[in-house]
Amino acid sequence: MTDTIFQQIINKQAPANIRYEDEYCIAFDDINPKASIHILIVPKKPIKMLAECHSEDQHLLGHCLLVANTIAERLNRLDNYRLMINNGAKAGQEVFHLHVHFLSN
Ligand code: AMP
Repeated sequence: MTDTIFQQIINKQAPANIRYEDEYCIAFDDINPKASIHILIVPKKPIKMLAECHSEDQHLLGHCLLVANTIAERLNRLDNYRLMINNGAKAGQEVFHLHVHFLSN
């Protein structure tokens, strides 16, 4: 099966403006921003969607939220951001590799 665009970005096989990276996740600018700052926080583990997460993913999910804080701090937005996860095509999910939208104006 072909890698998703996010897996290609994780593998450095597709370009992205990377804002943050560690062993568990990567964060980069959304190509079609819906706010002045629109960053996607993507776990490196290939999980399709939030509904496929289990208890073993608890640390990873919490980590992604704390990475949002790190990004917000770097951008001076600690008191001004929102997070969103689209779970499933009916909810608007287009890329089936779990990601958290970080939005701030
Ligand atoms: P979702 O609808 O929650 O699956 O969100 C997918 C997001 O990925 C959309 O906001 C797209 O604009 C964004 N996107 C798609 N391809 C790329 C890409 N190559 N680089 C950065 N963001 C992308």
